Amino acid sequence: MRLENYVGGQFVPARSAATLDDIGPATGEVITTLPRSGPEDVDDAVRAATTAMEGRWGRATVAERADLCDAIADRIEAELDRFAALESLDTGKPVQLARTVDIPRAVSNFRFFAGAVRHGRTSMHEMDDAINYTVRRPLGVVGLITPWNLPLYLLSWKVAPALATGNAVVAKPSEITPLTASALADVVHRLGAPPGAFNLIHGLGAEVGQAMTEHPGIHGISFTGGTATGKRVGAAASATFKKLSLELGGKNATIVLDDADLDAHLATIARASFANQGQICLCGSRILVHRSRHDELVERLVAHLGTLVVGDPRDPATTFGSLTSHAHRDKVESYVRLAREEGGTVVYGGGRPVLPAPLDAGAFLQPTLITGLSPSCRTATEEIFGPVVSVHPFDSDAEATALANSVRYGLAAAVFTEGLTRAHRIANDLQTGMVWVNCWLKRDLRVPFGGVKDSGVGREGGDYSMGFYTQDKNVCIQL
Ligand code: NAD
Repeated sequence: MRLENYVGGQFVPARSAATLDDIGPATGEVITTLPRSGPEDVDDAVRAATTAMEGRWGRATVAERADLCDAIADRIEAELDRFAALESLDTGKPVQLARTVDIPRAVSNFRFFAGAVRHGRTSMHEMDDAINYTVRRPLGVVGLITPWNLPLYLLSWKVAPALATGNAVVAKPSEITPLTASALADVVHRLGAPPGAFNLIHGLGAEVGQAMTEHPGIHGISFTGGTATGKRVGAAASATFKKLSLELGGKNATIVLDDADLDAHLATIARASFANQGQICLCGSRILVHRSRHDELVERLVAHLGTLVVGDPRDPATTFGSLTSHAHRDKVESYVRLAREEGGTVVYGGGRPVLPAPLDAGAFLQPTLITGLSPSCRTATEEIFGPVVSVHPFDSDAEATALANSVRYGLAAAVFTEGLTRAHRIANDLQTGMVWVNCWLKRDLRVPFGGVKDSGVGREGGDYSMGFYTQDKNVCIQL
């Protein structure tokens, strides 16, 4: 299978015919090739999207748009195993995780926004001698740029509300994990969606993503990725006054108070740290634990990590797969070395697991737990985005909050305590966009998702997404 772009309802190579290799990280083998597109391909996609907005897609009713989203959801659900296998192959994540989390969530995203637009409301404001009614119109052509960690999950989180609200989409998935985006284009194609409503351009961020953010024909950009890239996207997009949503990096704290019920929550704390090999923007990569519970927590986490099944992502029994690329593993490993230099003690993992061929050529790294680091050192403050977690003791709730807030990021935090008042106080004081108490990554699709500080600008989810992908127009009528 050679991947192609999807432009104006047709699968096409890059105009230059250049390609990139897509590497399966669990074995290092080339899976397929994808187009190495350029600004000229982005132009084609924007033209197709603009034509779609001027034509049949631009006139589609709410019911037609919602039905399309539901039909996409139904098809992905019917092909769950195929989508999960592709996602696992491309990312190195356990196929079981893709089957139970990534792909079902993509299905929910399409269903949720189909429902949201069907049941959407607008407002009316009455004056003594006039009425105002406010209508929501699509932004127009929107550019959606996504990372490699949750490829279809995050792409569908943007495509679904964008289509449901009537925009035409130009999507650019990560060049490292393009497979399920192409499978989505295939679904859209088979469903006979109006040509140009959904366009997909593969390629490198600096070549395709940059061209999208600069393109005057794109009216909004929803970007999820690293903070440094987000800065470039913001700078480029501002020249053409694009509406922007930036979901960026994190260095989230998992806070374990002295009264935490570890019997009930240990597995959640471990999952918060190491799910998807620690490559979820919401993962708790710093565990802050009350000094009185530090040793107990470390001991129990070490025991828990020993139960993870590291190995072939295709094996349904595997619970811990490979990292998403060899280059990324190099980066994560450099932080393990740094942690040792910074005085940390690796209490679990730290090396590459011994696996049989062809997995011995994969980008595997053991789940790694580190103690004894200063909470202000680089390992404990910079985003690693891998299975490397540091544990830090604290003596009071105020210190825990201050440590959690001491980094440049502010995406999410999780607090484990049996004390309701303490939970409220800490949740109130945390400088993050999201706080979980005695749970992690529990997601209601209606609630705001996004970060503060260097973790991003804007919120997505429910009404927030509906608002982002639309612009309000007020009509005032003199009575
Ligand atoms: P990245 O920033 O390298 O790439 C993200 C996307 O941006 C890719 O599609 C890439 O090709 C594209 N891109 C690269 N340069 C670009 C440019 N100049 N202009 C436009 N697009 C460009 O991120 P990544 O390594 O793919 O993903 C990991 C990062 O994503 C981590 O920092 C993680 O925290 C973050 N992330 C954030 C969230 C969130 O919701 N806040 C969710 C998942 C991942």
